Amino acid sequence: MAVQNNKAEGTVLLEMKHVKKSFDKSGVLKDISLKVREGQVVSIIGPSGSGKSTLLRCATLLEKMDAGELIYLGEKAAWEQDDKKGQKRCVYAPKDKLKQIRSYFGLVFQSFNLFPHYSVMKNIIDAPVCVNHVSKNEAKERAKKLLAQLGLSDKENAYPCQLSGGQQQRVSIARALALQPKILFFDEPTSALDPELTAEVLKVIRQLAQNHMTMIIVTHEMQFAKEVSDHIVFMEQGVIVEEGTPDELFSSENARVREFIGKVS
Ligand code: ADP
Ligand code: MG
Repeated sequence: MAVQNNKAEGTVLLEMKHVKKSFDKSGVLKDISLKVREGQVVSIIGPSGSGKSTLLRCATLLEKMDAGELIYLGEKAAWEQDDKKGQKRCVYAPKDKLKQIRSYFGLVFQSFNLFPHYSVMKNIIDAPVCVNHVSKNEAKERAKKLLAQLGLSDKENAYPCQLSGGQQQRVSIARALALQPKILFFDEPTSALDPELTAEVLKVIRQLAQNHMTMIIVTHEMQFAKEVSDHIVFMEQGVIVEEGTPDELFSSENARVREFIGKVS
């Protein structure tokens, strides 16, 4: 309990305020607000099509928001401004600021997205060396530590096609961690995996939580979300229907939340 209280008072790393996003005319995100503090694990659950991936994509600058604010460590990445016609529009910070903000977070997708023609080691050190200009030796040292931490020490020279899905996903996690992000986003990291391989990936995420990594996790793994999260957000049709501690969510009186949790767990 004491730990949760500390986390509840920690530095706000990410804040989304009144975020809206539409594709064509249909609203996919309708006034979403979210705050994530240092060391917190926030899980986002909800039916397919409810806007979870879009929320993550807006938070990670892969998709432009129509309205609202996106703030990392008190620095605005996007905010609203009146255009020439007096209509509110979302504007983004200049390129160099966005580049800095991008360095605050890492992303792990459902589909691993490793470079197939690179070895595991090259997949991990490519961005630190080419983008962040870390020396190759240092990047390799760090990668070796990460691979050991994720149980992949013997896979350094393997190619993605030689690995199981669970191993590939652990390499993607190592690759994201190699950039030393302050926040790690996961979009259904285990949905493409068999139950056995799912377990090894969840174990790694659990370890990261124990090491106080700040994480936002979209997942259908209800028991995992219950166990690992400080805060759970239930989304449906672009709206946060309910949010709270795992205990609060899992004892919710809301019929939709109860039905969803009952169905998928
Ligand atoms: P979830 O991740 O919760 O399953 P998504 O965020 O992927 O939901 O999708 C929410 C809704 O937005 C869906 O109806 C989906 O079809 C739509 N959508 C997502 N991305 C796009 C896009 N690039 N163009 C058009 N519609 C999209
Ligand atoms: Mg999705």
